[in-house]
Amino acid sequence: MTHDPNCIFCKIVAGRIPSRKVHEDDDMLVFHDIAPWAPVHVLMIPKNHVPSHYDMTAADAPLLGKMLALAPELMRQLGVTGGFRTLINTGPDGRQEVPHFHVHVMGGPRPWAKG
Ligand code: AMP
Ligand code: ZN
Repeated sequence: MTHDPNCIFCKIVAGRIPSRKVHEDDDMLVFHDIAPWAPVHVLMIPKNHVPSHYDMTAADAPLLGKMLALAPELMRQLGVTGGFRTLINTGPDGRQEVPHFHVHVMGGPRPWAKG
């Protein structure tokens, strides 16, 4: 498992920064975004420190598939029934702010703060 001691999401994985967890298993963690754009806004992250989508290869297909496959189930659990958005920001031009790969999943009734 790769861990970057200066990475905010690695600190969340290690429990050194608190988060509101929604799901955890061996290789991924899902928690509520601290500045939600929508009534429900969670971040799905690998426990492994992977900086961005650029660093993923075909070897990561099972993890990526697992994340996308889990999103609808989690949205239902969180009471989202009217649809949701799934978003991955990559690199500076993709407006990625936290350099640890994450998938945003946002839902709940409109209007939203953003997005
Ligand atoms: P991005 O621009 O795709 O890198 O998004 C980073 C997201 O991480 C933003 O939506 C932030 O609100 C969120 N974020 C930053 N720090 C934390 C934290 N400590 N706990 C939860 N979410 C966070
Ligand atoms: Zn990290």
